[in-house]
Amino acid sequence: MRLNCGLLAAAAACLLGLTAAGCRGGSTGGGKGGSVEDARAFLEKAEKEFLDLSIEASRADWVKSTFITDDTEGLAARANQRSIASTIALAKQATRFDGVALPEDMTRKLKLIKLSLTLPAPSDPAESEELTRIAAAMEGTYGKGKYCPPGRECLDINGLSRIMASSRNPKDLLDAWTGWHAIAPPIREPFKRFVTLSNKGARELGFADTGAMWRSKYDMPPDDFARELDRLWTQVRPLYDKLHAYVRIRLRETYGDAVPEHGPIPAHLLGNMWAQSWLNIYPLVAPKGGDPGFDLTERLKAKKAGELDMVRYGERFFTSLGFEPLPKTFWERSLFTKPRDREVVCHASAWDVDFAEDLRIKMCIEITGEDFSTIHHELGHNFYQRAYSRQPPLFRDSANDGFHEAIGDTIALSVTPAYLVSIGLLDREPDPARDIGLLLQMALEKVAFLPFGLVVDQWRWKVFSGEIPPEKYNQAWWQLREKYQGVRAPAERSENDFDPGAKYHVPANTPYMRYFLAHILQFQFHRALVGAAGHKGPLHRGSIYGSAEAGRRLKHMLEMGQSRPWPDALEAITGQRQMDATAILDYFAPLQKWLDEQIQGKAVGW
Ligand SMILES: [Zn+2]
Repeated sequence: MRLNCGLLAAAAACLLGLTAAGCRGGSTGGGKGGSVEDARAFLEKAEKEFLDLSIEASRADWVKSTFITDDTEGLAARANQRSIASTIALAKQATRFDGVALPEDMTRKLKLIKLSLTLPAPSDPAESEELTRIAAAMEGTYGKGKYCPPGRECLDINGLSRIMASSRNPKDLLDAWTGWHAIAPPIREPFKRFVTLSNKGARELGFADTGAMWRSKYDMPPDDFARELDRLWTQVRPLYDKLHAYVRIRLRETYGDAVPEHGPIPAHLLGNMWAQSWLNIYPLVAPKGGDPGFDLTERLKAKKAGELDMVRYGERFFTSLGFEPLPKTFWERSLFTKPRDREVVCHASAWDVDFAEDLRIKMCIEITGEDFSTIHHELGHNFYQRAYSRQPPLFRDSANDGFHEAIGDTIALSVTPAYLVSIGLLDREPDPARDIGLLLQMALEKVAFLPFGLVVDQWRWKVFSGEIPPEKYNQAWWQLREKYQGVRAPAERSENDFDPGAKYHVPANTPYMRYFLAHILQFQFHRALVGAAGHKGPLHRGSIYGSAEAGRRLKHMLEMGQSRPWPDALEAITGQRQMDATAILDYFAPLQKWLDEQIQGKAVGW
């Protein structure tokens, strides 16, 4: 299966719109109760079926993604359908063990089957069918979304994103922003109905609403999980506020009074359609002399590194930690370069096609510093997938949905100048005085993201719970964005708009909090692992390359898969059972000091 889509994640995606509640009314259930032996036999059968059908779907998906035609799309869709049907049948049968006292691992497996649903449809077949239809239509509306400026060519989200990233003309930026957000109003009414129906399904399953069901996936009571998020945000907020204040000052130099001295920043000036990453405006906010002192892309080209060499650098990173080299089939079956003669999905991804040894990446590699990091990230997924492949099928996934991405990113954080020196790509480490530029770029990407990572599901949870009624959808969205991100809508908004619908994950019904978690966890992992590697200097200069001890700890955690509650997995690497955002503060400590100097005497907050 692809990248962070482990067995259950895949099942969750597949179950879109299908009734879990129907699973309760089981004609196949044979009544409540059942012995431990019954449950064991059931789970054995369930895991075998899951595995067989997932592998089949995975193969079809691989072929489709590396050779897009009507035929391969049809075959992949059919394989997915088969997998869906089986999952539903198994979920139905699983309910007969509700309330039966079973060994812990068996209870956990049964719970994981139930929680694999992201969209609980009501048991009424007509309502279930309606929900399926709405879900597909919303995603379709988003996917087909285009802005057609009068007299010019139509632009899709990729074209509009390029404008958001590179244009410095406020009029053009506003035009692209408003143009894209105009695709969303038609999603508003279907979304409203979607909320009603999926809540009905969630309640039939025993959850207060769909949001509460999503929050139940984190091995703690849903409300405790929400409180955890508040705690993490409180830890990191002072750093975000300073970054925000600094960026606002510098943006005023470019855009003048369009950017207020005290208030929120207009959301179209931050280099990204959702203001979720500010990396694209680095040239506008870069410190003087802020270039990193080397250009990895140039260095790779000077070394005449090819696509496969890039991947071998990545593999050597992991073998230096004590991991086994990648299997021969990885090199035979992966897609490393963009084929000249057919359509492929170029977006980088990591796969374990047979949920065991058949690891692959699919990536149209270019010889750039960015792709060099991305390869390390993708291989992080692959080594995670292989590490948990000895777990029972239902446990072959990351500890929670934030962990997979966090591991990939943790590895990428170790791609430091010192690491580049030790593998011969750089002659010597650049002067530490140049670190501010690198750290600022990292913060524009990762610190700037944090409040957006919170907002999407803060909004959605309140919508599902009814705290935000339909007549306040848009107003509440902007209240949250202003409160957390300190950005404001660049144009007048009303309840005729539906701006949350202009973010993919809302019409596609994909939970979003995992990205916030991944951003917190990766720094916590990094701090613990470079510590294990004996690194003493600043955190951002630490790399775990070559450390057997860091490798041992990492491997131990990866091998657990999702067999245990995630705090156990976190503890295996960090010794902590709680998520802790102070690692971000440690990592960016030199930048924080520098920001303090830049914003001295200036307004902070909004
Ligand atoms: Zn990833």
